[in-house]
Amino acid sequence: MKTFREILQKAESDGVAIGHFNVADFTLIKAVFNAAHELRVPVVVGASEGERKFFGTRQLAALVKSFRDEFGWPIFLNADHTHSLPSALEAVNAGFDSVVFDLSALPFEENIRQTKEAIEALKSINPSVLVEGEIGDIGTGSEIHQDIKTSDQILTTASEARHFVESTGIDILAPAVGNAHGMVQSMVDGATKKHLQIERIREIKAATNVFLTLHGGSGTADADLKHSIEAGINIVHINTELRLAWRRGLEDGLEKRKSEVVPYKILPAVVESVQQVVGSRLRLFSNLS
Ligand SMILES: [Zn+2]
Repeated sequence: MKTFREILQKAESDGVAIGHFNVADFTLIKAVFNAAHELRVPVVVGASEGERKFFGTRQLAALVKSFRDEFGWPIFLNADHTHSLPSALEAVNAGFDSVVFDLSALPFEENIRQTKEAIEALKSINPSVLVEGEIGDIGTGSEIHQDIKTSDQILTTASEARHFVESTGIDILAPAVGNAHGMVQSMVDGATKKHLQIERIREIKAATNVFLTLHGGSGTADADLKHSIEAGINIVHINTELRLAWRRGLEDGLEKRKSEVVPYKILPAVVESVQQVVGSRLRLFSNLS
């Protein structure tokens, strides 16, 4: 079985990206795994601190490992948006393959200092764990917002990206390149899309030569996602779109079986709804028609 780093290197040389999908329950994991396995592509399952708290950090790790072992399939587990070292250590001890160590809310030099410390601590537990660092402000909350202001967003510059990467030694960088967490209602309705700063991604890639993650991919124009991957994005995070599909699937499942109380008769509608979204995103990221 290839390591996460090897899978990323292969994706980079093939000009494709790995899909990262957040999960908070078993229906979501099942949907993500089914879609990736059916399309024969590797995939990353992510869980933020809130999602881990609900699921159980060790329980989630055990479940993802069970899919990997039983099917021999490259499904990796990422500790998404982790804001403290104890929380990152808990995930790595549980067997997570990577950690998004997110101190982007701190002053830049403080973010560098603490990220560097965290990398040393995390790699002393598992030398092959990948650590992602965050710079810039891409908002919080993968949900439906009243407003997302990307027009006045301060984009990550190539020189600060290089400084951050060289000072910390991170494996993966998440820059602010027009992306933002969450969606607004007009994106849910399909009337508007997010757009990315493709040239800036290209500059950051050239300046850093590390793996790049695009956060807040939900609601982004397909062409922008494709171009961002060509410009150097290696991992694309999708969460809000999955949460929407999860809710719609649940409502459908309940609506169609009004007097049903058997979970395994209601919940397949959720899996199917989420799996469709994951499948369509994976096809786009992997250049499959
Ligand atoms: Zn994110």
